[in-house]
Amino acid sequence: MQKIAVIGAGTMGNGIAHVFAQNGFAVHLIDVSQQALDKALATISRNLDRQLAKQAITEEDKQQTLHHLHTFTSLAAGVQDVQLVVEAATENADLKLKIFRELDEHTHADVILATNTSSISITKIAAATKKPGKVIGMHFMNPVPVMKLVEIINGYATEKAVTEEITNLSVQLGKVPCVVNDYPGFIANRILMPMINEAVYALYENVAGVQEIDTVMKLGMAHPMGPLQLADFIGLDVCLFILQVLYDGFGNQKYAPCPLLVNMVTAGFLGAKSGEGFYQYTAGSKELIVSSRFF
Ligand code: NAD
Repeated sequence: MQKIAVIGAGTMGNGIAHVFAQNGFAVHLIDVSQQALDKALATISRNLDRQLAKQAITEEDKQQTLHHLHTFTSLAAGVQDVQLVVEAATENADLKLKIFRELDEHTHADVILATNTSSISITKIAAATKKPGKVIGMHFMNPVPVMKLVEIINGYATEKAVTEEITNLSVQLGKVPCVVNDYPGFIANRILMPMINEAVYALYENVAGVQEIDTVMKLGMAHPMGPLQLADFIGLDVCLFILQVLYDGFGNQKYAPCPLLVNMVTAGFLGAKSGEGFYQYTAGSKELIVSSRFF
């Protein structure tokens, strides 16, 4: 593989494009929004400067990486002649099915179609195409240039050779691949989201406060951050959405989202991105302040 396309230039898309370009691939970065593409290129350039400052790369590496990036607002034009597509557009099932139908139309039969979805069934996305054997999950973690894991998800019909190729490719990108099967939440979110939900339940039932819950998990379990802070960073709406996928997918009460989480999302307290979740976020401040609603 030499030329790949990344669909969606948001948080994940720019990181995925960065990593492929840095490893010598020509990258076609595609988004419906020109503004998102411009922002993505600026973010990649800033992140390369950070790597440069740490002497992790040279100025020449930076220029080579930027040279490998090309932007497109048309999917049909952007996927021409690529050997792999990694879709990282907005997490919405209807949107992804529409994108994969278009990809089916505009790519050759042997082009691998990967999706970075956190929670939508790979099997369902694959079923929207005429080549389900070529569809696979390639779930990068945020921030992509830093995080080592790639969770590779086999859909029901994914061909073995495709899994092998994506596994080898992940290693080539300097990542550690883990192959799993396609069931709700895969592995990462199937284990992470119930832990976050349980932390919210512990707060809701007044077993302990925000800081106590996070400190127990940080210092007691050596987690780099507590589950409530992590939920704030992921976005409480995203956590609720994934819990709902687990609840619907397994039909098991143990995944039922905590009513406090539902209330916070309904009220627009979505975590860091809205300025307040379990903690309050003030621009420029690194200090964690527990939301006054929990005193
Ligand atoms: P984001 O909202 O930051 O970016 C999504 C981008 O997709 C936007 O720039 C939007 O303009 C673009 N887009 C929408 N429709 C499009 C279309 N038809 N064609 C091309 N581009 C289109 O989202 P994100 O956080 O980067 O998430 C992207 C995917 O990655 C989702 O499937 C999400 O579940 C998954 N994911 C996210 C994270 C995370 O921490 N943010 C982690 C792992 C996986």
